[in-house]
Amino acid sequence: MSTPKSMDKIMALCKRRGFIYQASDIYGGLNGFWDYGPLGAQLKKNLRDLWWQDVVMHPVGGALGPDGKPVDIVPLDSCIIQSPKVWVASGHAETFNDPMIDCRETKARYRFDHVSVYVPEGEPEGNRPFFAFVADTPSEAKQKKKAEKAWGAVKVVPLATLAQDTWVRVLAPEAEKVGSLTEPRAFNLMFKTYVGATATEDDVAYLRPETAQGIFIHFKNVVDSTRVKVPFGIAQTGKAFRNEVTPRNFTFRSREFEQMEIEFFCHPDEAAAWYRFWRDARLAWWKSIGLAGENLRIREQGKDELAHYAKDGAGTSDIEYRFPFTAPDFGEIEGVAHRANFDLATHQQHSKTKLEYFDSDRGEPLPNGGKKGERYLPHVIEPSAGLDRGVLAVLCEAFTEDPSRPSPELLRLDPKLAPIKAAVFPLVAKEGMPEVSERLHAEVSAALRRFGAVEHDVKATIGKRYARMDEAGCPSCFTIDGQTLADQTVTVRDRDTGAQQRIALTAVVPYLREKLAL
Ligand code: ATP
Repeated sequence: MSTPKSMDKIMALCKRRGFIYQASDIYGGLNGFWDYGPLGAQLKKNLRDLWWQDVVMHPVGGALGPDGKPVDIVPLDSCIIQSPKVWVASGHAETFNDPMIDCRETKARYRFDHVSVYVPEGEPEGNRPFFAFVADTPSEAKQKKKAEKAWGAVKVVPLATLAQDTWVRVLAPEAEKVGSLTEPRAFNLMFKTYVGATATEDDVAYLRPETAQGIFIHFKNVVDSTRVKVPFGIAQTGKAFRNEVTPRNFTFRSREFEQMEIEFFCHPDEAAAWYRFWRDARLAWWKSIGLAGENLRIREQGKDELAHYAKDGAGTSDIEYRFPFTAPDFGEIEGVAHRANFDLATHQQHSKTKLEYFDSDRGEPLPNGGKKGERYLPHVIEPSAGLDRGVLAVLCEAFTEDPSRPSPELLRLDPKLAPIKAAVFPLVAKEGMPEVSERLHAEVSAALRRFGAVEHDVKATIGKRYARMDEAGCPSCFTIDGQTLADQTVTVRDRDTGAQQRIALTAVVPYLREKLAL
């Protein structure tokens, strides 16, 4: 495996080119919150639009489901704030907890399962400290150095595996004295707010920690108000909020993020087949947007990892990307879960509203050729993707260093995702070239208007303009030069190879249509 790309360089490029900024930057930032700049907002929209296209508009590219019929999905857009009863029914109010520990000395708070400890290779002798750290943070290297000084050869174990009576010897990540860590406590990840002016405990509400519940609570409304029949799916994209204990790794673990979720309702007997269908379809989708290499994988979760809703026999697969900060390990970008009928059953019970589906195509045959019908609570397959993690994976995959080029850093974005689709330059800002490049820019912009931005740039040396576009991930640049005025041809430069060729001015739009697969 090649060495991981530099996250510092990727983050610097994101800021320099306006992909991603720290939220509230000029006030020192707000931990766990990120804003998307002009290029990032467009990249994110392009990814969301591709998902929408392949999920809602033309599900799975027109592929047939395991029942041999076209896949049926309808969209929804539900509120961020719902009745707090939704979160009681869904289990989030009770169980959406990450056990966490505090450091009494530094006041830092850590997710219990994120803290590891350097301990001696052999039996610990004497009462030297054990050195706690959080992986992928500066504390990791710092504590390792101290541990090696104290013990010589050391190994890493999760804090959770150390007997609690030895915690008095644990030196917390940034602490000076041992024994400052508290016992683990449950911590609810939902953001709390108040609805209305009085702000009493009766007015408490929560920002949704996932978009999925908005779908479940409208299952009956959608069935009653549209012509959908099980099997079908409901999809929505939108913001979700989790008060993560240790937000980190750029946008990977944020406190405000966006999800793209499908809840696919099917007959219990067909759930296993639909689960396999969605697992394969979603993996293929991530490949289709440019994550096709060895950094993408799918992993069936072990039984001990399954979420609170997963029942016996219910599977969950994580689609994972090897981010530079997780390498050689992988981080989840989408989970595909077989949720059985947990959600509909719990909402039926708590809301006292019947959510069963009457399936007139099932049941015993009747003499008139019809069927008796069957009433059941559908099972659900949930492909739940993170848009921000998707964007981050795409950026990490596209980031390329090539010191031999005038632009040593470039983004090899799939043209479908590139926020800038093409750029047009005059070689120099004189001798009639800007007039021709303006005309070409207007023509290309008009042709690509619905698909993305086309830049026109007359300033700086041509090398610098190419470098800017390479960093923005723009696939093709067209340059008007002296020869253009003589023979109506233009140079087109390919971002990935740097190779240049001449084509007729009239061939520019067809060239781009092919390149962008429009
Ligand atoms: P993790 O184990 O990494 O906390 P999760 O299993 O809790 O994630 P899900 O509840 O399955 O995540 O959410 C579905 C998707 O939402 C994830 O695959 C991920 O892409 C995204 N997601 C979840 N939490 C965050 C977060 N804090 N920041 C950004 N994206 C997130």
